[in-house]
Amino acid sequence: MNYKRETICVQGGWKPKKGDPRVLPIYQSTTFKYETSEQMAKLFDLEESGYFYTRLQNPTLDAVASKIADLEGGVGAMLTSSGQAANFYAIFNICSAGDHFISTSTIYGGTFNLFSVTLKKLGIDVTFVDQDASEDEIIKCFRPNTKVLFGETVANPGLKVLDIEKMARIAHAQGVPLIVDNTFPTPINCRPIEWGADIITHSTTKYMDGHATSVGGVVVDSGNFDWDQYADKFPGLTTPDDSYHGLVYTKAFGKSAYITKAVVQLMRDLGSIQSPQNAFLTNIGLETLHLRMERHCENAQKIAEFLESHDKIAWVQYPGLKKDKYYDLGQKYLPTGSCGVIAFGLKGGRDASIHFIDSLQLIAIVTHVADARTCVLHPASHTHRQLSDEQLIEAGVAPDLIRLSVGIENVEDLINDIKQALG
Ligand SMILES: *Cc1c(COP(=O)(O)O)cnc(C)c1O
Repeated sequence: MNYKRETICVQGGWKPKKGDPRVLPIYQSTTFKYETSEQMAKLFDLEESGYFYTRLQNPTLDAVASKIADLEGGVGAMLTSSGQAANFYAIFNICSAGDHFISTSTIYGGTFNLFSVTLKKLGIDVTFVDQDASEDEIIKCFRPNTKVLFGETVANPGLKVLDIEKMARIAHAQGVPLIVDNTFPTPINCRPIEWGADIITHSTTKYMDGHATSVGGVVVDSGNFDWDQYADKFPGLTTPDDSYHGLVYTKAFGKSAYITKAVVQLMRDLGSIQSPQNAFLTNIGLETLHLRMERHCENAQKIAEFLESHDKIAWVQYPGLKKDKYYDLGQKYLPTGSCGVIAFGLKGGRDASIHFIDSLQLIAIVTHVADARTCVLHPASHTHRQLSDEQLIEAGVAPDLIRLSVGIENVEDLINDIKQALG
């Protein structure tokens, strides 16, 4: 049966049989028992599927991964210990030393550092592009060794909406997959695979968990990219893997080649696995994701409109505002709402912005976004403080930008707190 997203949120993933627990259990076990040595050997050779060690697979994690894969419309998914790990694995699964990839410049600060500093140390080079540049300008950045195009559906914290169809068209014409970090809209508000994205990543730490309890990430494979068509570009998927007696992923796993390699090779070797306890908590969050997203978006829309009309506010970015630069793209890709995050600046500039966030009472200063409690952050002093002013602008973060993550409280209480803090 093809269930709708709300039903998948509540009942996807865990399929209990007769006498099984109704609620997804936490398989808090590193190991799984077998009866013969041969049974175990077959698992190591990937001839049979089964659990043997939680770094590779665990039933709690698999149930949650499968729920998220269904929500995104993918063929498979892998949970990771964090969103950072998810983006690292997504890229590293098909890029190695000597390769190059292209990313939009307006991305999460942690991802920006990963791409511009750490991946470079591994010999993987990145070019950042303006996501609003013309197709020709972006195509000019491709090189013979370019392997990926990367962007965020709704950029954190710049709140730019990605033109996914345009990006997919560019990537596919160049024979590379489009990877989209869909953390902010979640599959409730946007399913990038339907618009041509090939691989989806998330920080499940954000709306999916939704309660600020568990750091986690996920990589979802659409199964749509034809690796064999560009076999020379993706030898990791199309040529023998020595660590599995010469197995070729595309031959052995077809549409699931990418995600299988990520699990059985990268996760085996690098080991950034999510704990079963965290996966359990993420799953509890997922069960109400569709309800919470609705309220996050409804509250954020009202607060964005309030801020827009306030005389002390210099500017507001929220794709739901008619005057917003990304309103039209938002209507196309995010018709049910974008997310609960709003970016804005005060007329008094950087100092006034800092004074404002210090005066809030109900709304807390925390390094987080996208959970049930409304919170606020000043990226130039916090998440993005390693970036120069030039890099800040490039990353879509004005020095006075306040990132407000609207929760699911009563919206009048939130507006009253903002009013009193504005003075
Ligand atoms: C938070 C975030 C990440 C990083 O995720 P962690 O779970 O904090 O490691 C990546 N991408 C986006 C869009 C994020 O908001």
